[in-house]
Formats: sequence, C-alpha cells, structure tokens
Amino acid sequence: MGADQQTLKQTTSYVHGRHLPSTQTYDNVDPSTGAVLGQVGRSGADEVDQAVTSARQAQREWRRTTPAQRSALLVAIADAVLGHRDELARLESEDTGKPLTQAYADVDVAARYFRFYGQAIESYYGRTIPLGPDTHAYTKREPYGVTGHIVAWNYPLQLISRAVATSLATGNTAVAKPADETPRSTVRLAEIITEAGAPAGAFNVVTGLGAEAGQALAAHPGIDHLGFVGSTQTGSLIAHAAADRVIPTVLELGGKSANVVFPDADIDAALPSLVRSVVQNAGQTCSAGSRLLVHASIREEVTHKIVGAFEQITIGAGVDDPQLGPLVSAKQRERVAGFLAEVDSSQVLTGGTAPDSLDGPLAGGSYFLPTVVDRVDPASRIAQEEVFGPVVAVLSFEDEEEAAALANGTDYGLVSAVWTQNLGTAHRMVDAIEAGQIFVNTYGAGGGVELPFGGFKKSGYGREKGLEALDEYTQTKTVVMKL
Ligand code: NAD
Repeated sequence: MGADQQTLKQTTSYVHGRHLPSTQTYDNVDPSTGAVLGQVGRSGADEVDQAVTSARQAQREWRRTTPAQRSALLVAIADAVLGHRDELARLESEDTGKPLTQAYADVDVAARYFRFYGQAIESYYGRTIPLGPDTHAYTKREPYGVTGHIVAWNYPLQLISRAVATSLATGNTAVAKPADETPRSTVRLAEIITEAGAPAGAFNVVTGLGAEAGQALAAHPGIDHLGFVGSTQTGSLIAHAAADRVIPTVLELGGKSANVVFPDADIDAALPSLVRSVVQNAGQTCSAGSRLLVHASIREEVTHKIVGAFEQITIGAGVDDPQLGPLVSAKQRERVAGFLAEVDSSQVLTGGTAPDSLDGPLAGGSYFLPTVVDRVDPASRIAQEEVFGPVVAVLSFEDEEEAAALANGTDYGLVSAVWTQNLGTAHRMVDAIEAGQIFVNTYGAGGGVELPFGGFKKSGYGREKGLEALDEYTQTKTVVMKL
C-alpha cells in the first residue's frame, strides 16, 4: 500500500456525530507484521473539551427519554453491531493482533452488552420505603450526567461496549478515549451508534495518547463519572484526578489470577480451560490464569499435559486466525521477555522466547511462544506481577491452607478458579480466596455479560457487567412526602 492510501486511513476523533481531523498524528502499527496500518489523530485538551461540551448538550435531552425509548435504541445498536460483524472483527484483529475467531467473539459480546442493558433498563426501578401511613417515601435512580471512559488495548470493543451500553441505558451520555494502540473499532462503533439513531453527542470518541487526551479527559470539569480499565499504576492517577473533583470512579485494573488444582480434580476436563486461560488473546487478558497452583502430588502430570498442549498451538497473524497471535506491540514483547530473563533456564519447560520459525512479513511481528515456568518462587516478580503474555507460572501446594495463602499472596484479587470434585474443598476455597470472581471447575477469562465483574485489593473497585453495573452508573435520590 502506498503512503497516500495510508494517509487516507486516518482514524480521527468523533465528536457530535462528526469526525474531527487532527493536524498531529501518530502511526497505528500492525502487531502481526510491524507495518503501519494508518495514522491516528493525536487529540488533546481542545478536542476533549469539544467532546465533553457535546455530551453535556446531548444529555439534557437524553436524560428525559423513557427507558422504553433508550431500550429501543440499545437493541437497534446491538443489531447494527452484528450487521457490521465482519468489518468490526477485522479492525479489531488488525489493531490488536488477536486471532480472527476471538475478534468475532468480541464483536458478539459487544452486541450482547447493548442488548442486555437495552432489555434490563426497562425493569430497573427505585423502591418505596414504608415509613408510615401519612408518608410516601421512595427512591429514584438518576444518571450522573456525562461519563468518561479510558480503556486498555486488549479487548477494545468489549471494554468500551460494556461501559457505554450501561451509560446510555441509564440516561448518561459518554466520552471515550480508546487505548493509543487500538482506536479503530471504537471510532467505527461511534459511527454505528449514530447510524442506529443515537442523538449527536450521545457517544463521542477522542483518539490520542494517554498522557495527553487521556489525562485531559480525566481532569475535565465537565465529566461527572469516570470509568477506567487499565493498569493499577495509571488507575491510581485516574483515582487522584477523580478525587480532586469529588466524582465517582470505577477502576477495573490488573490481575494475577490463579487456577488452583486439587489432586481429585478431573485434569483432562480442566486442561482446555487451563490452556485457554493463558493463551487466549496471547495472555493479554486482565483475568488471565497466569498462575497455576497445583497440588504437589499432581504437579508433574499437570505440567506435562500443559506443555504438550502448548507445543501444539498454531502461531501467526491475527487475521489468518491461528490459535495464538502476536502481543500488541514490540514494547509489550520486550516486557514479557524481561520476566523470562529473571528465571533460571531449567525452570522453563517450554517456550520462553520469540518463535524462530516465522519469516516473511511475520518476521516483523511481536510474537512470543506459549511458555510454562515451573517451580516459581512465590516472592519472585513473575509470581507477583502481571506478565501480560502467554506465560504461566507454576507453583505447588500441600494442603488447602497453603493453596489459599498462595492464591492470596499477591496485591491483586481479580479472578480465581478452583478445580476439585470435593464440595467441601470448593466452598472453603471460595470463602478463603480474595477475588471479585471465583469459578469452580470452569474458568471464564473475559466473557460473562451477566456476571458482575471487578476487583478486590489492587485489582480495583466498583463493578461493571451484570445488573450491578446499573447501580454503578446511577445515583440514588430519596424522596420523602408528608401526606
Ligand atoms: P494503561 O494503564 O497503560 O493504559 C490504559 C489506558 O489509560 C489507555 O487508554 C491509556 O492511553 C490511558 N492512559 C495512560 N496514561 C494515562 C494518564 N496519565 N492519564 C489518563 N489516561 C492514561 O494499561 P494498558 O497497558 O493499556 O492495559 C493493560 C492493563 O489493563 C493490564 O494491567 C490489564 O490487567 C488491565 N485490564 C483490566 C481489565 C479489567 O476489567 N479489570 C480489563 C482489561 C485490561
């Protein structure tokens, strides 16, 4: 493709139903090849201000719509997203490098968010409070106003859909800043939302860099509620910005989630989940099962089977739909390699490097082999910090107490899974593990539109997904009338 064609493929901010061309741009890089896919508008405080002003204007009318009207629009958006399924999946796969099948699944889940909240909002009520016969007391759930959303690059379309569907359903309007690396599906979604009938300004997108457009959005006085999905470090900055203006925030941050496998588990039934929880999206999932805690008596059997499965995994460009695509960027691959440099080579049962078998255009991609690191020291960095690559750290335990201590032995508390046939073990572990979601004999990295999702400890606070998200995006007004 010539440079002129690439220049045409500029991804720009989308404000009040129109594109805002940018004079300053940066390259959107295809992680599967390292080639430039096009340019992205490098917006700043001015575009953020225009977006927030537009959203405030739209919200004055939008908050007066009935739940039935909002429901009709959200369901129409769900249908429109599915109507652009191929196009959205392709954009998502190219931007992130994720295998096309996973990108299709992401589009389907994005549509589900609009349908789920479109349907749920019609049954979302306040309460009456029986204070006495001469008093009428009740609560109403009211929107905050304009919600701001800053999200990560790993599931761009899903992350923005789960937030914006809830925001619009509850009568808010929204401004989003997609991740620097992955803006295209969010901008396309904004166009689709307008085409489906949303008023101009109901959903605005500002493209750009975190330290510029992101920071300007977090600090804008016209934002009434902030949703953030990303690292714990940036989440803390967002929380400070929200605290400065005394506005609520939902923080969906990192994780170091554990699969805990007891000796009575059905290992062959568990294996596909243990593998998928590490390999899905090349391990770049907040709820990746990046730690495998396995009873000492079955450690060799389980690791042997995982190594066998990892060595069968096909690798290639996301759009060619292998089982494993590249990491999102060369920088991310360097970060993953940095963790491997800190362990002894005898601990690496498979992988540990970039594949050496890829050539042609793929030689410029950010690939990393599925990797098993055994006998990991619980205090080491690879056991404590997010690797965000297709890497699992294996630790072993002798009894339930030690398993729970290891599972809880990091700063994070996002997701965990317990694999056992024993109901007593399952319930005791569910009680003992500090995490926002716990699975037993299954693992749900990523999905689960209906399931409230969010962290304990440094994995964040607040909940998205499920009906709980409706409470998160509304405030209670209590009304008391003396009759
Ligand atoms: P990141 O914190 O670097 O960036 C996230 C977003 O914040 C991006 O849009 C970025 O542009 C923006 N940003 C960066 N600096 C900013 C600043 N100073 N002010 C305002 N915005 C700023 O995270 P990342 O590397 O893009 O994403 C990976 C992280 O996201 C991992 O920790 C992962 O676990 C987490 N994550 C969490 C969930 C969840 O639901 N809990 C889901 C997906 C990803």
